[in-house]
Amino acid sequence: MEDCIFCKIIKGEIPSKKVYEDEDIFAFHDINPAAPIHILVIPKKHIPMLTDLKQEEEALIGKIYTTINKIAEQEGFQKQGYRVIANCGKDAGQEVMHIHFHVLGGKKLGDKIVG
Ligand code: AMP
Ligand code: ZN
Repeated sequence: MEDCIFCKIIKGEIPSKKVYEDEDIFAFHDINPAAPIHILVIPKKHIPMLTDLKQEEEALIGKIYTTINKIAEQEGFQKQGYRVIANCGKDAGQEVMHIHFHVLGGKKLGDKIVG
């Protein structure tokens, strides 16, 4: 998608600190980290919101979670654990309209997951 910042990151038109890439998935460090580890994991396919997901994308979403696990092992924080958050729409404060999974870790995170 032409105007999408994350599509531009995937294509290398906007620089990012890449953590992982395969034919379906791209992962990079969040520019404004909310924790010592803050990685964004995104599908290469442009899907604006979780509410746009179709049945044919179920396998892709499953692959995102196994890939997150792979990244956690690769980056050395698998044992300590991590939190995965995906914001959808206005009430969740979704800013970038290309679905993305925040992977947070590197410290004991707060007990509350809602602000
Ligand atoms: P959300 O609020 O769930 O839509 O999250 C969007 C996230 O994308 C935020 O955590 C931003 O810090 C992050 N972000 C925006 N632009 C960039 C960028 N160019 N490189 C890396 N992360 C970005
Ligand atoms: Zn996109």
